[in-house]
Amino acid sequence: MKSRAAVLFDAPGKWEIIDVEVDDPKEFEVLVRFQHAGLCHSDDHYAKGDVPALAYPFCGGHEGAGVVEKVGPGVRDLKVGDHVVAAFIPGCGRCTWCARGMQNLCDNGAYMMLGTQLDGTFRLHTEDGADVGQCSLVSTFSEYSVLPEWGAIKIDPDIPLSVAALVGCGVPTGWGSAVNAAAVRPGDVVIVMGVGGIGINAVQGAKFAGASRIIAVDPAPFHRDKALELGATDAFENMQQATDLAQALTNGQGADSAIVTVGVVTGEHVAEAFASIRKAGTVVLTSMGNVVEYGIPVSLFELAMYQKRIQGSLFGMMQPTRAVEDLLRLYREGHLKLEELITRRYSLEEINQGYADMHAGVNLRGVIDF
Ligand SMILES: [Zn+2]
Ligand SMILES: [Zn+2]
Repeated sequence: MKSRAAVLFDAPGKWEIIDVEVDDPKEFEVLVRFQHAGLCHSDDHYAKGDVPALAYPFCGGHEGAGVVEKVGPGVRDLKVGDHVVAAFIPGCGRCTWCARGMQNLCDNGAYMMLGTQLDGTFRLHTEDGADVGQCSLVSTFSEYSVLPEWGAIKIDPDIPLSVAALVGCGVPTGWGSAVNAAAVRPGDVVIVMGVGGIGINAVQGAKFAGASRIIAVDPAPFHRDKALELGATDAFENMQQATDLAQALTNGQGADSAIVTVGVVTGEHVAEAFASIRKAGTVVLTSMGNVVEYGIPVSLFELAMYQKRIQGSLFGMMQPTRAVEDLLRLYREGHLKLEELITRRYSLEEINQGYADMHAGVNLRGVIDF
């Protein structure tokens, strides 16, 4: 069948809207008609070339929600008509990482940039027959797409699909960065560095975990306003101001944790966060930068003698199949704001405008309505 899709032909490059040919789902796969897709910064990393896609043309999108249209042979847990959220890490449940309770690190993550499905073949093609790589095995920037059964998480049909889409990436990645990776405790002083579509959810997570002060840092006034609206107690333009406040609040010690959720991270960002935390405090690194960026200019003496910790975080250290359910329950019960995260909705044709708005700091999360 045919589907409209946003595709990159090269990087750096812009998204181009083309018709793709979508195969039927093979064994253990489902065909989903996406109704909404989130414009996550990670897809922009592919467009800018910070992170390489390994198969061009490449259809982006790893955050989305829709309805199952067809199921392939062997699919047992999903049926036509089910509402699903795309999971960009298809947790298998049986590799060593899944068995250790770290489904976010499932060995199937190896396929995220390859463009194929788990059997090594492609499901999307151009009209002249060339293979089109899929982002994270899901490609939510195509209205119709084929996903592994494990990459489609069933949700209750009364949850609006536009907000459900967000719990596929931005919400768990930010929320878990505070709740799991920083392990925020009641009374903590927490700095969130960069309050876009991820950082805003680190703010929400830190608030729910009981932080006494949540200091948001972002150069964009709109982002600072949203942070204050959704739980931050303070908001500044730069890390120096945030660090000064954290120290003033803690007798000079510094923040309990600093969560790095800037758009494109460099070692200097991590070093600034490192300087802001107390002894035995935690820096959480959630952002992605250029894949060839190396080095964090921090004092090795301070790292050891102050017992500081730098903790990487993927998908907020959450388990995709459990996170979706837990986060939607928190949403239902009013502890997690989702509608408030969607600043603007775009048609698929407006996708480049959506990313331009993200860079201009005038949206938190842009969402494509198919
Ligand atoms: Zn696994
Ligand atoms: Zn994402």
